[in-house]
Amino acid sequence: MNDSLEGQERDAPIFAPDAFRLRPFQAELIDKARRFGRRVLAPRAQKYDREASFPLENFRDMHADGLLAICIPEADGGLGADFLTYCIAAAELGRYCGATALSWNMHVCSTLWSGALADDLPMSPADRVAHEKRRRMHYRRIVEQGAIYAQPFSEGGAAAAGVVAFGTEARPVEGGFRVSGKKIFASLSGAADYYGVLCTERAQGEAATRRNTLYLAVPAAAEGVKVVGDWDPLGMRGTVSRTLLLDDVFVLEEEMLMPRGVYFEAATRWPHMFLTLSPTYLGLAQAAYDFTISYLRGEMPGTPPVKRRMYPTKQIAVAEMHMQLEQTKAIWFQAISEARPNPTKEQVLRAYAAQATVMENSNAIATKALRTCGGQAMLKNLALERIYRDSRCGSLMLPWTAEICVDRIGREALYESGEKDE
Ligand SMILES: Cc1cc2nc3c(=O)[nH]c(=O)nc-3n(C[C@H](O)[C@H](O)[C@H](O)COP(=O)(O)OP(=O)(O)OC[C@H]3O[C@@H](n4cnc5c(N)ncnc54)[C@H](O)[C@@H]3O)c2cc1C
Repeated sequence: MNDSLEGQERDAPIFAPDAFRLRPFQAELIDKARRFGRRVLAPRAQKYDREASFPLENFRDMHADGLLAICIPEADGGLGADFLTYCIAAAELGRYCGATALSWNMHVCSTLWSGALADDLPMSPADRVAHEKRRRMHYRRIVEQGAIYAQPFSEGGAAAAGVVAFGTEARPVEGGFRVSGKKIFASLSGAADYYGVLCTERAQGEAATRRNTLYLAVPAAAEGVKVVGDWDPLGMRGTVSRTLLLDDVFVLEEEMLMPRGVYFEAATRWPHMFLTLSPTYLGLAQAAYDFTISYLRGEMPGTPPVKRRMYPTKQIAVAEMHMQLEQTKAIWFQAISEARPNPTKEQVLRAYAAQATVMENSNAIATKALRTCGGQAMLKNLALERIYRDSRCGSLMLPWTAEICVDRIGREALYESGEKDE
């Protein structure tokens, strides 16, 4: 078996620092991620995919390399990446192991959303002080102990799409909350040390509202936390996204990842936060393209050195893949560059368009790669077959599924806020 993607010493950055005007510290961090992906993730990716097991070893190595703390400020011991730097670094990891990059995203968002993003949001001075103290505790766990955070939001209903309040509820009690509910597709289940759960704070007799969404880190070891069900999906198998049950779990108030009301503000004012699921899939699109070039040149390790590049049909297919990849990169780079509080309507529509484009094109490029490279390229000893399956998962990911993005672009392009037809 050889899924090692050797020969990728040549891999150029997906976004060349000069061409995309990256600052030196951004280019350095992204380069670190690319080298890590190629050296550490690529040789192990096939194993985790086959076994549908969690890449814990990768996370231990990411801790040693500082990558678990990529978005933690330097003053707190992290690498201090901003939103754009994180997104491109995540794309570089996705290129080598989609499941690790996607799971890493769930972990990193716990620090990015409570960090740089929360700094952009309104909070009372008292909330700000309390928040900074609490997040330093989360950061310390990650930096010093390599703690892993998951992000189970989905419940199988409309809550993760942002339509209704979460069914998982936190009842305020002395010193904290009693949390009960069920989360489906909880990536990192069984491996995470903390589950960053979205739930609705609801006192006795109070109505459930989205404004009262709480973002709470539930310790995996707490009484009442249980992971159930099996996990044998089409792709992204290493994410091990099983079902999480929370049965009257006591969670201390200091486990809040954002103060009360701030997650609702974030989802409303900082919509680009939901683009963070897309980098993995941009990386997969690049991986499918890279594979095709290497394969048609007869340079793919583990295959006979047969060249197929001289056929006009192959050249046309590569040209089409190249154009689709460049188009995808262009809109995505523009959208991640525009991430900020209170974006314009045009910027929000572009963010939806970028998300849908990456998620759909990632699989379209992988599909074309298989068709173009041919039968031997779909064998399981090569990476393309895994890339193809992993890339199919992107469009399904809430809250910005490809369908929801298309739905919102159409509606919001035609209607101004509050407008109705007679
Ligand atoms: C590999 C993988 C890993 C994942 N990891 C995580 C994770 O770590 N954490 C996490 O929270 N989730 C995760 N997810 C879950 C993912 O985001 C979705 O929640 C999941 O795919 C939903 O499946 P579903 O069949 O319930 O979706 P759907 O049925 O498509 O949607 C769920 C509900 O949302 C509402 N909805 C759907 N479309 C619309 C629309 N256009 N307008 C309004 N409402 C709509 C509907 O009420 C629907 O019942 C992961 C998914 C995958 C594939």
